[in-house]
Amino acid sequence: MTKTWLEDAYAAGARIYTGVTARRVTSARGRATGVEAVSAEGHRVVVRSRAVVAAAGALQTPALLKRSGLANPNIGRHLRLHPATAVLGLMDEPVDGWVGSMQSRYVDALADLDGDGYGVLLETAPVTPAFGANFVPWEGAAPFHRRMADLRRSLGVVVLVRDRDSVGTVDVDRTGEPVVRYRLSAHDTEHLVQGLVGAARVAEAAGARRVETTHHLPLGFEPGVRGSVASYEADIRARGLGPGRLALASLHLMGSARMGGSPVTSAVDPDGQAWDLPGLYVADGSCFPTASGVNPMISIGSITHLTASRLASRLAD
Ligand SMILES: Cc1cc2nc3c(=O)[nH]c(=O)nc-3n(C[C@H](O)[C@H](O)[C@H](O)COP(=O)(O)OP(=O)(O)OC[C@H]3O[C@@H](n4cnc5c(N)ncnc54)[C@H](O)[C@@H]3O)c2cc1C
Repeated sequence: MTKTWLEDAYAAGARIYTGVTARRVTSARGRATGVEAVSAEGHRVVVRSRAVVAAAGALQTPALLKRSGLANPNIGRHLRLHPATAVLGLMDEPVDGWVGSMQSRYVDALADLDGDGYGVLLETAPVTPAFGANFVPWEGAAPFHRRMADLRRSLGVVVLVRDRDSVGTVDVDRTGEPVVRYRLSAHDTEHLVQGLVGAARVAEAAGARRVETTHHLPLGFEPGVRGSVASYEADIRARGLGPGRLALASLHLMGSARMGGSPVTSAVDPDGQAWDLPGLYVADGSCFPTASGVNPMISIGSITHLTASRLASRLAD
């Protein structure tokens, strides 16, 4: 960002304040008038403007809107996360997952499991020591050490679920900071199981000697030696995917101030403008109507480009 969009904005005359946290969008006569913020040193910063664009991400944007007194019930609801985990395959030869293009595999064969566009993506996991360590099962120090030593021979298959109806919310605590709650629905859990099975097939086809999920109590099979994809699937279903069972992560946060055609179902209108406060726009992943089902950066850039273009033409009027 510092080398691209922010550079362009600066060249076009934008003033940029770093280390400043937006606390509240101000308003007068039913319109947004600016932002109240606090600097890293604790100084109050006030910006007055003809329009305000909230782009603090899908956890902080709804918190900012709530701190600013917006009451639309869709603010902070419908949080989508693309719940993700990985399957690790142990190969005979070094894989060195930290070398070269790290996200070069992309499988969308399971992306539409029920005919409604919802399913699972499989992608290459960047198996760097720092990233990989988060997904290596923890049974204790010695087994963890052995698994980390195996990391250079491990391939990682990311399993990424396009979540449909899991319940995700962002509220604010008494200090105005976001409080996130998220629970996988039965529908999305089933897709996660199918993704884990698909990822195991990829690892087996690649020649892995051992295939494992990220369950904290190790769960896997050794192709041709011990177990099979079928026994592995049965073990996953028996063990379950509930909270605390395996390493689940989210890199894609969306939908918590979603865009739509009515204030009954959405937080912002199709131009990104808050239904509750004209002059306040949302331009980040929180405006997604649903989970995108693909890595979201390009879609965020596209939607916010539209929002910015429309806002610029309004301000020019
Ligand atoms: C490790 C990792 C790898 C990823 N890889 C990919 C990928 O390969 N492809 C892809 O498409 N996506 C990828 N993503 C996802 C992508 O980075 C995010 O979806 C995207 O950056 C979200 O954009 P955003 O504008 O919604 O929020 P963000 O990028 O999170 O921007 C929000 C900004 O607001 C600032 N902020 C928050 N609160 C305040 C406040 N109160 N006041 C002032 N500033 C505030 C934050 O510091 C942040 O800079 C990855 C994410 C991670 C974490």
